[in-house]
Amino acid sequence: MLYKRQSGGSSASSGGGSPPPAPTPPPNSNPPPPNTPPPPPPSSSNNSPSSPNSPTQTTNSPQSSSSSGSSSGSTTSSASVTTPTGPPPLDTGTTIPPLANITMGMATKAPPPFTLTYKAGATPPISGVPVLPTPFVRTGDWPDRDKVPPTDSSEVAEWMKELDGHDIPNLSVTKDGSCPSDTAAAADAANRGWWTCGGPARVTDIVACPDKNTWGISFDDGPAFYSHVLLNYLKQKNLDATFFVVGSRVYEHWDMLVDEYMNGHEISVHTWSHRPLTSLTNEQIVAELGWTRKIIKQVLGVTPTTMRPPYGDIDDRVRAISLAMGMIPVLWTQTPSGTKFDTNDWRVAGGTVNGTSSFNTFESILSSAATLDTGFIVLEHDLFEITVDLAVGYFLDAALSHQPKFNLEPIGQCSHIPTTDLYLESNQNETFPYASSRDVDVSGDGSVDTKSGDGGKTAASASTSAGFPVVVPFMSPVILLSIGLLSALF
Ligand SMILES: [Zn+2]
Repeated sequence: MLYKRQSGGSSASSGGGSPPPAPTPPPNSNPPPPNTPPPPPPSSSNNSPSSPNSPTQTTNSPQSSSSSGSSSGSTTSSASVTTPTGPPPLDTGTTIPPLANITMGMATKAPPPFTLTYKAGATPPISGVPVLPTPFVRTGDWPDRDKVPPTDSSEVAEWMKELDGHDIPNLSVTKDGSCPSDTAAAADAANRGWWTCGGPARVTDIVACPDKNTWGISFDDGPAFYSHVLLNYLKQKNLDATFFVVGSRVYEHWDMLVDEYMNGHEISVHTWSHRPLTSLTNEQIVAELGWTRKIIKQVLGVTPTTMRPPYGDIDDRVRAISLAMGMIPVLWTQTPSGTKFDTNDWRVAGGTVNGTSSFNTFESILSSAATLDTGFIVLEHDLFEITVDLAVGYFLDAALSHQPKFNLEPIGQCSHIPTTDLYLESNQNETFPYASSRDVDVSGDGSVDTKSGDGGKTAASASTSAGFPVVVPFMSPVILLSIGLLSALF
């Protein structure tokens, strides 16, 4: 693998833009919400299906308009440790607005031009992966953007076979992924492992970087119109990050995905339409993950072995399905007191908090992070101009100048997972992904596309029924690390 440096990243949690028509959970949950499922801002580009090319309008403030300006403090989780706040000086050029002006109604700028320089046949910076495929063409049978893909397709029928032999817990589908809307399921969150509503993460979830003062940087919901602004910044700072990409966005901005991948960033699955996965049926979850995996493979030639559920909305059923399909769930860090490391940047784009508030939340996160025995993962997004401005103008600089010093790295790297393990095509590790080392039909055409691991020697006991951690045949170092992390965090 060729990651040589460290980079930082943050990930944001539950939020993220989500498609307009999405059933969005209410922003605030009643229970002392460790987290709140998030109603995301409308997605960027695709919002207006008709105008895929007008970035300025579609990408940004989702809801158009006006100001909502200032709102108050961080809505959701504000870390227990509060810190000095106040906007740091801008150090990245003049195009980033002052923090206090970063609000949903702010004036926007057109994204700088982007031209992909990598051609078909180029060699990616990871050993064992195929060369770049031919450029993606928006033809063929792809599901509608930002809608849950239909489950009666031949592709989904093939992908459902990946669940055979795995014990998928028979948990009820939640109403909309939010705690208040499904009080019965929320009351059972501990047994269900329903993380969104206060349930525990499981040993197979990646929730933090194991090494103290190390930040596993990530950005969710892209690729989008301003992603390359972030990519340029990361390149200047010699940083790599993990990008959790939405299939519908990949369809529109596939060239940006190529740029991310070829520049050494890690790529992971973040579903097709960005719905709360606990609110979907098994078949719909398979369709969401399967189509996203397929379009990434089509564009990059590789298949990620990790995923992040939108809004962090995961329970043991969703976990088992993800693992059966060969994808390990990646969440974000939660302190022992229950505060989740969500920058709330998506709430700025959604108009419920402003930039200053989000930055204050981020500073609190950094202060909390410095007290942990492990490293950490934070939720951030690259879907909107606003969230990119916050990352590039404020968050990353604050992290880079933090004392004690933080190492910023992509999540796979900070987790000591070889980069080759992160893609099915290059993976030689028989115990990663944990429970699904077997042949996979990524394209859904009925034939096996790539071979992973040992072809099924490792038993596939993905998860159990409600309650307990997924049983994994081999305890890889990663799992052991995760166990250590969990005991430290919960
Ligand atoms: Zn998201």
